[in-house]
Amino acid sequence: MDPVIPSLVVVVVPLIALLHDQLRKLANRIHILDGRSTQLNMHALTNVYHVLNSGQSVFILMTPEALNRSHQLRIFAQTIGFRVSFILDEAHTIPSWGLEFRKELLRVATTIRSVPNCQLILASASISLSDVDFIKRCYGASMDETISNLYIRGNVTYSVIEVSTLPGGKKSVAKFLSSFPHVIEFITEKFPNGSVILFSEHKKRVNELAAGLNEAGMPAVRFHSDLPSNLKTLYLNAWSAGEVRVIVATSAISLGVDNAHCIGTVHFGNPASVYNFIQETGRVGRRGQPSECIVVTDKSATYNQMCAQIEKRQREAENDLAVSQILAGNSELLAWGAICGRHVCIPLLLLRFVDPEVAAEPCGQCTVCLAPGDHLHLAGIAFVIKQLVQRTRHIRDQRKSCILTLAKFLSAASCDFAKRNHLDAYPERSIYRNYDIKLILQMITLLIANGTLKAHIDIDPQSFEARDVNFI
Ligand SMILES: [Zn+2]
Repeated sequence: MDPVIPSLVVVVVPLIALLHDQLRKLANRIHILDGRSTQLNMHALTNVYHVLNSGQSVFILMTPEALNRSHQLRIFAQTIGFRVSFILDEAHTIPSWGLEFRKELLRVATTIRSVPNCQLILASASISLSDVDFIKRCYGASMDETISNLYIRGNVTYSVIEVSTLPGGKKSVAKFLSSFPHVIEFITEKFPNGSVILFSEHKKRVNELAAGLNEAGMPAVRFHSDLPSNLKTLYLNAWSAGEVRVIVATSAISLGVDNAHCIGTVHFGNPASVYNFIQETGRVGRRGQPSECIVVTDKSATYNQMCAQIEKRQREAENDLAVSQILAGNSELLAWGAICGRHVCIPLLLLRFVDPEVAAEPCGQCTVCLAPGDHLHLAGIAFVIKQLVQRTRHIRDQRKSCILTLAKFLSAASCDFAKRNHLDAYPERSIYRNYDIKLILQMITLLIANGTLKAHIDIDPQSFEARDVNFI
């Protein structure tokens, strides 16, 4: 066996709670430092050097912000003479959070590129190949090896339940959630034992639901980003220890939460994106125990709301629509397609979203496998969309990349985008003009989810601004 070469390993962790959790779990096993709190002064770095010299590796855990600020660490890494590795943990957050609200995640690339001959490792449970490609372009690096272990978790069942079939026969998710005894009846029937997470995207609804359940006799705690951190810790600990079975949460709970007793998630309304759904349902069955992930949805309302949301964003952004907003819109659409469409096995679609080429069979036990929807097939639509995007490349109006716009255009609805850009004569369009927008949108969603159409973002390597989005 080769002798172990001592290395300086800088682990970049995007969430402070996750960073603390890793420090706690690893503190007695390896040489590990909190690069955020120790400020990494000369004294700390001298100690690191001594440990490396003694033949042992040192791990420094940092947030992206702390890494970008730490000049001393950068100089130390450049001149140290030992092997330096950077591990980007939860690497799937780099494109999504980096483009939307946390530029520091993208700027880590500049910091790491300043250290010659270092090794870069991306770690994630749900990073797609297109996101790996995005990160490669940020770093100007070639990726030697991708170690991927994708599989359908046999102990987890995925279900989509329409709200009208739940206790009380309510017609919308909002109405159902206002009747706490019915929610309790549903939760108790589905999950008589074990720990459960109830997800909602709205903090206000999380508060209301937790309060209502407690009042109606089901103890529940809550978790979202607006809670003070001492309350977050208190509630999360109570739920993790099994003192309270139910936690009501936004997606803020998902990364790194590891409760051995968690056997169920319920999403009230659609998850914000497929990534969120993968991460959030990743909390269940972590010790191999049988678990179930349920999405409670109102199909028709969800479709209309989703289109309205995308249109609202476009109107607000007018002529200067940020690429990240288009992506957010697409993600919601994908989530809708993935969860409600009943066209592709749910866990299989989650895998394909990560790796379109993955070889796996439908699970045979999700609600889509058990009760599939009507088969969709609009021949040639992928080709037409790619052509359309190519044809509109020179147009600065980024609405061309919004799939809702493309669906409208193809279904021949009145479309300002088409008129403005003189696209009315586009020949292939006539094939689809008798289909409604919803059907075309579903088809585009499926093509994207299956990897036939891949969204591609062109990034300016200096400013990290997204220059263009297109489908390849
Ligand atoms: Zn299935």
